[in-house]
Amino acid sequence: MSTDTVNGDPTRLDAATLAARIHAGELSSVDVTRAHLDRIAEVDTEYHAFLHVASEQALAAAEAVDRAVAAGEKPASPLAGVPIALKDVFTTVDMPTTCASKILEGWVSPYDATLTTRLREAGIPILGKTNMDEFAMGSSTENSAYGPTRNPWDTSRIPGGSGGGSAAALASYQAPLAIGTDTGGSIRQPAAVTATVGTKPTYGTVSRFGLVACASSLDQGGPCGRTVLDTALLHEVIAGYDPRDSTSVDTPVRPVVEAARQGAAGDLSGVKVGVVKELHSDSYQPGVLSSFDAAVETLTKLGAEVVEVSCPHFEYALASYYLILPSEVSSNLARFDAMRYGLRVDDGTMSAEQVMAATRAAGFGKEVKRRIMIGTYALSSGYYDAYYGQALKVRTLIAQDFDKAYEQVDVLVSPTSPFTPWKLGEKVDDPLAMYLSDLCTLPTNLAGHCAMSVPSGLSADDGLPVGLQIMAPAHADERLYRVGAAYEAARGPIVA
Ligand code: GLN
Repeated sequence: MSTDTVNGDPTRLDAATLAARIHAGELSSVDVTRAHLDRIAEVDTEYHAFLHVASEQALAAAEAVDRAVAAGEKPASPLAGVPIALKDVFTTVDMPTTCASKILEGWVSPYDATLTTRLREAGIPILGKTNMDEFAMGSSTENSAYGPTRNPWDTSRIPGGSGGGSAAALASYQAPLAIGTDTGGSIRQPAAVTATVGTKPTYGTVSRFGLVACASSLDQGGPCGRTVLDTALLHEVIAGYDPRDSTSVDTPVRPVVEAARQGAAGDLSGVKVGVVKELHSDSYQPGVLSSFDAAVETLTKLGAEVVEVSCPHFEYALASYYLILPSEVSSNLARFDAMRYGLRVDDGTMSAEQVMAATRAAGFGKEVKRRIMIGTYALSSGYYDAYYGQALKVRTLIAQDFDKAYEQVDVLVSPTSPFTPWKLGEKVDDPLAMYLSDLCTLPTNLAGHCAMSVPSGLSADDGLPVGLQIMAPAHADERLYRVGAAYEAARGPIVA
């Protein structure tokens, strides 16, 4: 990505540079934040990355940072003053949280998510909330009730999903940092198809308190940026134990920033990399495979030892995920009952059951309804063992495949997505084709591990972005950043 001078356009600078200049008093956070708000006003009618823009709140947060800098105080965090785009699935007391659903239209949460609080405490101005597939179900952001987001590389194409808004905001320089959530790939696949960086941290290391649940055993918030270092800086801000999330793990935050800096020095000797045989298939787009093979070459040149490994049960990841996820969805989304949140369809003569049914019929989109129905069926007595029970067994087998692989290697690699971004509308009527784009990202979520997508250039067959996926075991997130930063430095900038 291009860097610019102090007098140039701050929206072109990376977050690490912006932070250094703001903390040195060379740039004000208000100017940086305003430049991004101006950019949103100028270009977002074209991309539709944002569902809400919070100019006043963002500028007020920026002013507080500038006052602290002027008073000679230590910055609240290494990213203090650098604005961010927040996926509209984290609650915020000062703007709506809709999860891109009609059922939550205009709903304002009475409390902030822990992740939101951490951003505020770190002095990071929140520019607004980004578009997504409804309740984070989808791979294209076309399942938003408020209209799709467009890919800044080609506006006739999808920006990935479910976090297409966050990825598009980064790729179109509307925000230098963004937050996503990853249940089956919703941080990594949008990063891949927009040539940005995104990490799904180890399950339990970023609080889910105030993250509206999709599938609780898989959901994880995570950092998105245009560079590996920016993503690492954000990772350290948002990770950490939270007693309000019962699955939060009380361990020290992994040293991902140090690892990114170490990686950028460009030496991977002593690092063992495994290429997952099952995630390198002839059914993938040829340009994706050639970009991946070139990336593996680069890793070898950096000194890494590359071997092929087999994870035989990854073949069943899609079937397992698309039973476990809908099962959890059918339970989690039962809370949208017209009584407590958002939309209520009631003509005054209806019974409580009729109000619930009418509200859900009007408030949920097609894909959400499909998954609630699949999940309800999979959990029903008589089918539970055959579907949900079986899927859980496969989940264990996948975790065992990973364990065996990590006895031999430090990280695993694959393409992030089998395809480059497709045309808007191309897969909306074919749910299975849509699900197939998650093939490479799902195993990590099922195992609770961590993974990153880093741009690996543009595909030789259509000139569109391709992502390299790096996977590591639970609580070894720093390995992603070391390898990702080394690869990024060796690969160099991606220019259209
Ligand atoms: N595309 C996947 C799905 O539709 C992943 C979603 C996600 O990670 N939130 O379920």
